[in-house]
Amino acid sequence: MSDILQVTGLKRSFQQGGVTIHVLRGVDLIVGRGEIVALLGPSGSGKSTLLQAVGLLEGGFEGSIRIGGEEAAQLGSDGRTRIRRDALGFVYQFHHLLPDFNAAENVILPQLIHGAETADARERAESLLTSLGLGERLSHRPSKLSGGEQQRVAVARALANRPSLVLADEPTGNLDEATADVVFMEFVKLVRDEGSAALVATHNERIAAKMDRVVRLHDGVLE
Ligand code: ADP
Ligand code: MG
Repeated sequence: MSDILQVTGLKRSFQQGGVTIHVLRGVDLIVGRGEIVALLGPSGSGKSTLLQAVGLLEGGFEGSIRIGGEEAAQLGSDGRTRIRRDALGFVYQFHHLLPDFNAAENVILPQLIHGAETADARERAESLLTSLGLGERLSHRPSKLSGGEQQRVAVARALANRPSLVLADEPTGNLDEATADVVFMEFVKLVRDEGSAALVATHNERIAAKMDRVVRLHDGVLE
């Protein structure tokens, strides 16, 4: 089977105060279907920049990004939106849940936008949330949930549409260490059970070691 992600020669630089900062200097990366890869690197090394490029969130880079075999880097905004919707799931450091909707609704809504039937979307949301230990919290709004619970809802939401590739940017970075460890391991297990691939930025070596493979961002390239 083809790889889900093939990044070749990815370059990204920023202008800051008249100076050009070369953040990504030619990143090559392959993620296989169902493979969970940790992206390690110190703060400022370009992890978020790489995930944003792969997530087709912004342009401004050079190089090739193939997702599911399709060259995505040069697509217009419609094509990028289609790939984001059909193939990708996202978990951010801060959950960005919709505050006026409860936990189940936060996981149901992206499925309805994707074209699912309401009953199916609800069943899937409840199943994902239950597998993350939130079966008794389905009707809670985000403000009534702990930080770890909120991030679990964000994980369920990211997986709701069965993405082939989940992109996670320090998904437990705002939680205390003990909670972060638990939520992180639940996240990895769920991604594995679902058969998705994932590219997960972290600076936690211990957590990274639990994934299938570790790649390190250093001086703008992967070691
Ligand atoms: P990490 O996620 O590994 O902490 P980032 O990808 O956020 O690193 O940032 C890498 C470098 O790129 C940093 O030096 C940061 O200041 C710079 N950078 C990121 N985004 C921008 C931007 N939009 N404009 C200017 N510089 C940026
Ligand atoms: Mg970052």
